[in-house]
Amino acid sequence: MKHQIMAQKTDSVAQQHPDYDQHQTVAYHEDTATGLRAIIAIHNQNLGPALGGCRMFPYATQNDALSDVLRLSRGMTYKSALAGLPLGGGKAVIVGNPRKDKSRELFLAMGSFIDSLQGNYISAEDSGTNVSDLAIMGETTRWVSGIHRDHEFNGDPSPYTALGTFEGIKAAVKHQLKKSDLAGISVAVQGVGNVGMELTKLLSQADARVYVADVNEDNLTRAKDRYGAIIVGTTKIHRLDVDVFAPCAMGGTINSMSIQEIRASIIAGAANNQLSTPDIAETARQQGILYAPDYVINAGGIIDIHHQQTGNRNVEQVRQQVTAIGETLESIFCRAQSSQIPTSVIADQIAEEIFLAPKLQSRMA
Ligand code: NAD
Repeated sequence: MKHQIMAQKTDSVAQQHPDYDQHQTVAYHEDTATGLRAIIAIHNQNLGPALGGCRMFPYATQNDALSDVLRLSRGMTYKSALAGLPLGGGKAVIVGNPRKDKSRELFLAMGSFIDSLQGNYISAEDSGTNVSDLAIMGETTRWVSGIHRDHEFNGDPSPYTALGTFEGIKAAVKHQLKKSDLAGISVAVQGVGNVGMELTKLLSQADARVYVADVNEDNLTRAKDRYGAIIVGTTKIHRLDVDVFAPCAMGGTINSMSIQEIRASIIAGAANNQLSTPDIAETARQQGILYAPDYVINAGGIIDIHHQQTGNRNVEQVRQQVTAIGETLESIFCRAQSSQIPTSVIADQIAEEIFLAPKLQSRMA
């Protein structure tokens, strides 16, 4: 199979892109034989190899794909740093419709593309790809994770993402409502997919009152029948008079309009990029809403993926590290409270203190 790697280092198109932030590598791949069109971006490797999922999405333009991969890879640097992982930030995107354009040949070619980066980028599942797709990539590269069939959940990191989110909700409730358990606490879960369903289970086991909304009727029925969740409409879920709003569907649902309608005093959920724009964090703070920064609270999955990659099968150790997300959030909440600035800004500052520190040390040596 012939592969054409069009650029290995960050090129001038990427450098001039508004989402470019000193990314170390942006590599492009186009392969007419398999139809693969993909980009891998490595944002920062100060702490270790860049790990991040491989997204498949029918981007309208190459510029949209580039924007997504630049933004997402940067986010992974911050996420891994705050999760205490020896990893940098990277991401891959495949331009294509996951419902129509998947083929074995395409994923074999993607594996070879990943392999050409020689372990500097390690891939995992993301929206549009699943464990089976990653397993095919794993035939042409060893730099994929989240495919271990002997894993507690068959390689799927979602239950650990849910566990971390659950611990984050507990930390937020303790900080904001001065309550050390979730009994009687009401939570509105937006989206009961892989993560939201598991979170609903954990919340109901903790005697919380759980409201759920989803566009998928089967998921709603399962959440109600299995965990006693109360079903509400998708346009209502964020407006409920509850203690916690937990976005677990897609990003950007907290915007300048919806933030005014949120009655919960805590926003803590698993979705990536929950705030439509960064300034919403300050609006939330001014409204007295405690926001658990998304990339901190949803890091359970990446912690699990890291342990899968390194071959650590010590489930207790993985659980402990995921549970520690609650402590990380508590320190962010305290620092934000004493400095009167948004939790998301504090999270970014702490992440930068962590991932920029090795570079500073090497400059001073
Ligand atoms: P998923 O696709 O399994 O679940 C998403 C759910 O949201 C689906 O049930 C979908 O029907 C529902 N949904 C879609 N539109 C909706 C709407 N308008 N209102 C209510 N529900 C809607 O995805 P997932 O793996 O559970 O991930 C959920 C979120 O968490 C995503 O933002 C993802 O990026 C993020 N995340 C997931 C992981 C992980 O380990 N899976 C890790 C980190 C972050």
